[in-house]
Amino acid sequence: MLSPLTTGIYTGLGAVGAVGLAWGGCAYAALWPGSQVFGPTMTAPRKPGELALTFDDGPNPAWTPRLLDLLASYDARATFFLIGSRAKVETRLVRRIVEGGHLIGNHTWSHPNLALTAAGRVREELKRTQEILEQTAGVPVRFFRPPFGARRPAVLKIARELGLTTVLWNAMTSDWKEPSAARIAGRISQTIDGLERRGLAANIVLHDGNHLERRGNRGPSVDAAGRLLARYKDSHRFVTVDAWEPAVRQPLAGGSH
Ligand SMILES: [Zn+2]
Repeated sequence: MLSPLTTGIYTGLGAVGAVGLAWGGCAYAALWPGSQVFGPTMTAPRKPGELALTFDDGPNPAWTPRLLDLLASYDARATFFLIGSRAKVETRLVRRIVEGGHLIGNHTWSHPNLALTAAGRVREELKRTQEILEQTAGVPVRFFRPPFGARRPAVLKIARELGLTTVLWNAMTSDWKEPSAARIAGRISQTIDGLERRGLAANIVLHDGNHLERRGNRGPSVDAAGRLLARYKDSHRFVTVDAWEPAVRQPLAGGSH
């Protein structure tokens, strides 16, 4: 039987009938973070007071180290969804993320739109990233976030077969193109406070990396993270997304699997 917590995070295929699979339904299902039409994904549980800061598209040698210093200054842990091809050339930075107590997840090798990618290549994107992250960091990688939130049933099935839980989000703004940290933090705070009123935790996406540019400027996003940490440090708990996953974590035997 599912616990109330589990049913809060995961919703099964029950939405199929309500949404329908007309063309518009497919676009909704493939891109909208809350959509469960294509199978269960994790967003956030009914745990008001918990915030998961998640950072996508790194590691970024210009900005991830500053972000790690910032998180350490608040003694806060975050989740980093890393691009495999970047992780391959930033191995020390990947290890530094893990040594800081943060959780790393799989964000594909080359950041394609997986809703438009052939199944064989989807598998390759995930598997290759899984291998480089686990070999580099020496920890199991159990979480996956699809680039752009784009997915379809085959993608979720492949992720499951590789032992990955697909994680989406419920708090986001266009931080990748917004130059004002105050506006990024302000919009996300509004979302957090709205979720709180509905009894939900917040799964917040920011970007410390740029999938098009290895050292892309992420000053506003990192600054916004600092504003959120300052605003919520006394009233909320910053968690990594594995805190919302009931599965038991096992250390890796022999470095990778
Ligand atoms: Zn991304």
